Amino acid sequence: MPNKFIYVFGPSKTEGAADMKNTLGGKGANLAEMCRLGISVPPGFTISTEACTVYTEHGEAQVRQTIEAEVRQGVAFVEQEMGKKFGDAKDPLLVSVRSGSRASMPGMMDTILNLGLNEEAVRGLAEKSGNERFAWDSYRRFIQMYGDVVMGLKPESKEDHDPFEVIIDEAKEKKGVELDTDLSADDLKQLVGEFKAVIRSRLGREFPDDPWEQLWGAVMAVFQSWNNDRAKLYRSMNDIPDAWGTAVNIQAMVFGNLGDNSGTGVAFTRDAGSGEDLFNGEFLINAQGEDVVAGIRTPQQVTLEGSRRWAELAQVSEADRGSKFPSLEELMPRMYEQLLSTQTTLENHYKDMQDIEFTIQEGKLWLLQTRSGKRAGAAMVRIAMEMLAQGLIDEKTALMRVTPDRLNELLHPVFDGQAIAKAVVIAQGLPASPGAATGQIVFFADEAEEWVNKGKDVILVRQETSPEDLRGMAVAKGILTARGGMTSHAAVVARGMGKCCVSGAGAVRVDPRARTMTVGGKVYNEGDWLSLDGTTGRVYAGQVPTQDAELSGDFGTLMQLADRYKHLAIRANADSPTDARVARNFGAVGIGLCRTEHMFFEGDRIKSVREMILAHDEAGRRAALFKLLPMQRGDFEGLFAAMDGLPVTIRLLDPPLHEFLPHDEANQRMMAKEMGVSYEDIKHRVDDLHESNPMMGHRGCRLGISYPEITEMQSRAIIEAALDAKAQGHDVNVEIMVPLVGSVREFNDQARIIRATAAAVFAERKASIDFMVGTMIETPRGALMADTIGEQAEFFSFGTNDLTQMTLGFSRDDIGKFLPHYLKEGMYEHDPFQSIDQEGVGQLVKMAVEKGQAVRPGLKVGVCGEHGGDPASIEFFHRVGLDYVSCSPFRVPIARLAAAQAALKD
Ligand code: PEP
Ligand code: MG
Repeated sequence: MPNKFIYVFGPSKTEGAADMKNTLGGKGANLAEMCRLGISVPPGFTISTEACTVYTEHGEAQVRQTIEAEVRQGVAFVEQEMGKKFGDAKDPLLVSVRSGSRASMPGMMDTILNLGLNEEAVRGLAEKSGNERFAWDSYRRFIQMYGDVVMGLKPESKEDHDPFEVIIDEAKEKKGVELDTDLSADDLKQLVGEFKAVIRSRLGREFPDDPWEQLWGAVMAVFQSWNNDRAKLYRSMNDIPDAWGTAVNIQAMVFGNLGDNSGTGVAFTRDAGSGEDLFNGEFLINAQGEDVVAGIRTPQQVTLEGSRRWAELAQVSEADRGSKFPSLEELMPRMYEQLLSTQTTLENHYKDMQDIEFTIQEGKLWLLQTRSGKRAGAAMVRIAMEMLAQGLIDEKTALMRVTPDRLNELLHPVFDGQAIAKAVVIAQGLPASPGAATGQIVFFADEAEEWVNKGKDVILVRQETSPEDLRGMAVAKGILTARGGMTSHAAVVARGMGKCCVSGAGAVRVDPRARTMTVGGKVYNEGDWLSLDGTTGRVYAGQVPTQDAELSGDFGTLMQLADRYKHLAIRANADSPTDARVARNFGAVGIGLCRTEHMFFEGDRIKSVREMILAHDEAGRRAALFKLLPMQRGDFEGLFAAMDGLPVTIRLLDPPLHEFLPHDEANQRMMAKEMGVSYEDIKHRVDDLHESNPMMGHRGCRLGISYPEITEMQSRAIIEAALDAKAQGHDVNVEIMVPLVGSVREFNDQARIIRATAAAVFAERKASIDFMVGTMIETPRGALMADTIGEQAEFFSFGTNDLTQMTLGFSRDDIGKFLPHYLKEGMYEHDPFQSIDQEGVGQLVKMAVEKGQAVRPGLKVGVCGEHGGDPASIEFFHRVGLDYVSCSPFRVPIARLAAAQAALKD
C-alpha cells in the first residue's frame, strides 16, 4: 500500500503534475499542472485513486482510517491558502467535491458544491458576502445536490420529477413568479426548511450539519459511484478497466453567482463537432457550477463570432442578440482576453484540443478544469491533421490521435439530397453531434432499448438528458433535446459516442407523461417518425432516407499518412463489382475473400441452384451447373475488371446446401410446381439434407469433394472470366481458395480438380494466365497441420470466424444465448467473434504461420474473418507477421489506420 494518498495544489505548493493521471485521475493531474503553469486555480487537494481501491477492497471504515490524518492536513492546507476556516460560523471555507478517474467518465458522481454550509455558516456567509440571497441560494443548492447524490433522494418513478424541483416549482407558483432568480432570500430560507423536511420524511435521516460529516459522506459517495451501474456500463462501452478506481478532488469554492459581474462557463479550444480551429464556448452570467452543462438555462456564447453563428441558427436578430444574448467578448472584454490567452497557453502546452471550465467571481477569472476534449470523428481527423500542419504535433502523434473506429462516423450516411430538399423542417436546434438519423420517437431511455431490441430505429427525445439516459442514447439512432447548449450532457456524450444529436431545440415542448412532443401547435406521439441532421441542427418530420457519405480532404491525407507507416496490406471482402469499387475507393489493395455462395442468391439463380441441389444424380447436377456457369463467369469478370490487376481471392462454395432450400410447405409446393416434380419429392429431399449441426456438417471443401462437378464448374467460371477480362485489356491476379480444409488430402483433391479444369480451359482457348491455389486455415486441424498443407497450398487465409467457433466450441449462430452473460461475468474480456482471442485462437494463427512459412518460405498469409476489420485484432495480426487483413469495404479506412498504429507501436 502506498504511504501517500493526498496531493495538494495551490499557489504556494503543488505536489501533482499532468503525468500523474494514474494516481490523481485526469482532473486532479490537470488541476496540478495548471497550477504549475501559473494559471489561477482555486487551491485544493486530490485523494488518490489508490484510496478508492482501498475502499473497494476493504470498505469505508478502513479507507477512512487510512487517509483521515492526511485529509485533515489537506483541509488545513486549503484553509491556509484561502485564509478561511472549514466549518467556521463567521467566514466559512466552502469546498467542492468532484470525482475524477484516469479517463473522463460521465455516469459517475460529478460534483457537490458549497460543502461546509450549515444553519450557522450560512449566516456567516451572508454577512461576509453582504448578500443574504446568495448565501441561502448556495445552501439550498448544496442540500439539493447532496440530498440527491450522497443521500440518494431521487424521483420515485421515471415519470416523476426531482422532488426538490417540485418544491421549487410550488414555491414559484405560490409566489406567482417564473424564474428561480425571482425567489427572495426569505423564500430560499423557506425552501431550505422544506428540503430538509422532505429528506427527513422520505429517508428517515437528518441532513448533516457537521462539515466533516458532510465531507466524508461526499468522499465515500464518490468512491461508491465508481461501481454504480451507469459507470460500469460506460466502462464496458469504452474498455476502461474496473481496477483503475477514481480520485476525489476537494477544492475551495469560487462563485459564479455573486451577481452580474460573475458567471461560469465551458469552452473548447477548437470546435468539437467540426474540428475547426476556432475558440468557442458557452457561459451563464450569475450562475453556478453545473448550470451550464445541466442545460436548464440557454447559455450565451463566449466569442462574438460564435455568438453570431449561434444567433443565425437560433434565428435571433442581431439587435436581439446584442441586447439579450451578448457574448462574453462583448460583455466582459477584459475577462475574455484573459480566457483567450489561457486557452492558448493550455492548448500549446498540452498540444491537443482542450475542454475547459471556468468561473468568473466578481471580475476574477478562475480555471476549474482542463482536459483533452471529446470530439466527433470528423473533428478528430481535422484537428489531428491541422495540428500536424501547424507544427504542434508530429506525424506519429497525428496518426495516434485518431481512434480508428471513430472513422466510421465519416463514412456515416447523410440524408439523400433530393429527399431532404422536400422534407419539412419542424424545428431548429443546435448541431450538437454530426450525422443523419431517422427513427421513431421514444421518450425514455429504457423504452429506447426495448424498441431497439424489437428491431426498430428510434430517436430519443428528452427535455434534457442526464447520465441515466446513457443506455438509451447508446442504442438510439439520434438524440433530440429541447433544452441545453453545445456543451450540455446530451451534446458531449453524443459526440463521444459518435451519435447524431440535436440539442436545445427550443420550439419543442416535451411532455414525457403524455408521451408527446409539440412543435408549433402540432403534436407528435411516441412512435411517430422523426429525422435529425446533427450537422445543421435541423429537425424534420417523418422518415427521410439516407445515403452513403464521401471521404473528405483531411480524411484522405490521414489515409495517405497511414499508408506510409503501415506494413499490413488491407484488402476487402467483396462479392460484387459494386462492393469491389467501394472497397477500392476506400483504398483496398485487393479482394481477400469473395464468398461465391452469396452470388447464388441473386435474381432467379436460386432456381438453378435448387435444381442442382435437388438433382438425383450427377447428370442432373451438371445440367443445373451448366446454367449457373455463365452467370458466375459474368460475376467474376466484373470483379476482375473492377480490381484491375489487384489480387482477387475467390473461395469455392462453402455453405450447407439446405440453406438454399425452402423450408415451409407453401414455398416447397411452389418450387415443386416450378420444377415439375412432386411436392413429396421436394419435401423428402429437404428432409434428407437436414443436419443437426450444419456449421460442422456438409459444407466447405466437403461439398466439392462429394460433388466434384461443383468445383469443376466454379473453377471453369473463374478461369474463363480471367481470360475474358485479360482479353479486354485488364490485368488479372487470380487466387483460388479452398475452404474448411483440415487435411492436406482434402486440399490436394480440390487443387487437382482446379488445376485440371484450368489446363482444359487453357487448351480450349489457346491462352493462359497465372493463378494460385491456396487454402483457408479455419479448422483447428488445418492450423495444426499447417506444415503439410503449406507444402501444397500457395497461400493461407485465416478464416478466424470458423477458427474461433471451432477452437472455443462456441456456435457462431447461438452465442446470443450465453455470450452476453459470459462477458458480464468476465469469462472472456471481449466477444471473441469481434476481437480475436489472442491467447487461445491467436496461438493457432501464430503457429500455422510459422509452420507454413517453414516449409514454404515467403508463403503469403492473410486473414479474412471478421477480425480483419477490428483494430485490436489488426494489431495482433501485425505482430504475428501476416501480409494482409481483409475486411468489409466500409472498414477498410479503419483497418488502414489501425495497421499504421500497430506499426507505430512496434
Ligand atoms: C471465416 O470462417 O472466418 C470465413 C471468412 O468464412 P465464413 O465466415 O464465410 O465461414
Ligand atoms: Mg469460414
